[in-house]
Amino acid sequence: MKIDISTRRQVLRAGLAAAGAVAAVSARAQDKIAQAQVQYQETPKDGAKCSMCVNWVAPNSCKIVAGTINPNGWCVAYAPKDS
Ligand code: SF4
Repeated sequence: MKIDISTRRQVLRAGLAAAGAVAAVSARAQDKIAQAQVQYQETPKDGAKCSMCVNWVAPNSCKIVAGTINPNGWCVAYAPKDS
């Protein structure tokens, strides 16, 4: 069977899009740091806590640290929001 060029292009494009989507998902999963690596703890430190950090994402996560994050937690990557 003969496939015309435009059909072949569409097939190629669909394949590339699918490969890109898979790469994006796996990159996202690897992006975050494990809690142990940043000495994450479930309690504040010297008055500093996750809900005051620029990396905080309500209600219970963090832009850079993996897993469920307590708003009253803390880790060594803590960076205060501008007050
Ligand atoms: S203190 Fe650490 S875990 Fe908490 S929000 Fe900031 S970077 Fe994330």
